[in-house]
Amino acid sequence: AAKQTGEPVRVWSPELDEHASSHAQLGAEMRTALDTGQFRVVYQPIVDLETGSVAAVEALVRWEHPERGLVSPVQFVPAAEQNGLIVELGEWILRTSVEQMARWRAELGDAGPGRVSVNVSARQLNRPGFAATVAAALADSGLPARHLTAEVTETAVFEGGQAVIALHELRALGVGIALDDFGTGHSSLGLLQTVPVDTLKVDKSFVDGITEAGRQAVIAESLMHVSTGLGLSAVAEGVETAEQAAALRARGYRLLQGYHFGRPVADPDFDLVRTTVDLL
Ligand code: C2E
Ligand code: CA
Ligand code: CA
Ligand code: CA
Repeated sequence: AAKQTGEPVRVWSPELDEHASSHAQLGAEMRTALDTGQFRVVYQPIVDLETGSVAAVEALVRWEHPERGLVSPVQFVPAAEQNGLIVELGEWILRTSVEQMARWRAELGDAGPGRVSVNVSARQLNRPGFAATVAAALADSGLPARHLTAEVTETAVFEGGQAVIALHELRALGVGIALDDFGTGHSSLGLLQTVPVDTLKVDKSFVDGITEAGRQAVIAESLMHVSTGLGLSAVAEGVETAEQAAALRARGYRLLQGYHFGRPVADPDFDLVRTTVDLL
């Protein structure tokens, strides 16, 4: 049943439909979505080829819109960044993920994932007090900081000094820091000198062509050298085939993430993931 909003009835037109999918429209509906619990967090495994275990999971937000169905974060995260709601949404995602991770620790122990990796947007990171928000979420859930990683993009860090301060505060708490989509930004290598990072997430664009001895393979190989040389871990993103996994493994990658090992789901089956790794 349609909600009674007191607004005039709108008749469908191509123009209206186009407007309805705009950032502004999504942004306006996001407030209600937050208040009525339309967001979900799903988790995608990051596997360790050496141990055959799920080293971590990445938390990814989903919007189950009552009329539009599933709306992609590619559409609504930028809108939420624009209207500022990403701060509240991001804190909800953080708290939900940290609580879920605490449950897995309690239920599965070392048979479960070792970490949850949560995406943090530029707007969150650049707002003073972000590290305190993280500390409070950890304290409330009882999860030790070493089981949490913050995934930040190069652009978010590049934006300002506050972001760098926040990263140092997170590091001091014991939270891991991963540079997301590594290699696609403006100053990837330069950032590694100033920012406390422990993990590089090597972008899917370098994984796609890894089996074809071309430029992407050379770059993926170089990024592994950088990561090893600096004592960082590297996660290869978007691994879709066993061939890509084998090619990455041959180049020293041991942490892999992608549809080949598991899609993002509400409650991943960690045993199933382990079986896929064992088959490699
Ligand atoms: P990202 O952080 O780079 O996340 C990885 C994206 O790649 C996810 O898309 C994931 O579902 C997808 N993916 C994983 N494995 C594969 C694969 O093998 N093949 C392909 N084609 N795709 C794969 P998703 O969940 O749609 O998220 C898209 C982007 O939206 C994320 O990119 C991130 O930038 C943003 N996002 C998602 N969740 C959050 C969140 O909780 N907070 C914030 N701030 N941003 C988020
Ligand atoms: Ca990410
Ligand atoms: Ca990524
Ligand atoms: Ca990406």
